[in-house]
Amino acid sequence: MTDNCLFCKIVNKQIPAQIVYEDELVMGFKDISPQAPIHQLVIPKQHITTLNDLTAEDRSLLGHMVFTASQLAAEQALSAPGYRLVMNCNQDGGQTVFHVHLHLLGGRQLTHLG
Ligand code: AMP
Ligand code: ZN
Repeated sequence: MTDNCLFCKIVNKQIPAQIVYEDELVMGFKDISPQAPIHQLVIPKQHITTLNDLTAEDRSLLGHMVFTASQLAAEQALSAPGYRLVMNCNQDGGQTVFHVHLHLLGGRQLTHLG
């Protein structure tokens, strides 16, 4: 838990969220401002500020986040039509919440990245 981190507060259930998945390592919940019919976030329960702060020990955790997102996509019938996983880092990457998170976006044709 890091003070004043929004996503740490969601992990600790101090702020409500529409949780779609939870285990000992990660949590998945609906994005509060969805950019697609399905827009969910998968976060580590452990606070990691940005992708720049990853260590070698975090490699399996990041793999678990991607696997979790792929399972959530499958449960919501996104596997065949497809979906997008996105992680933003710092200002140029468009990061606004400084606790690492993976966006799962799907349910419509997404436009090209840019
Ligand atoms: P990013 O811009 O990559 O840092 O993404 C942060 C995401 O967190 C945005 O898509 C926001 O809509 C989302 N977000 C912010 N506050 C909340 C919240 N309380 N519950 C769920 N999602 C949130
Ligand atoms: Zn945090």
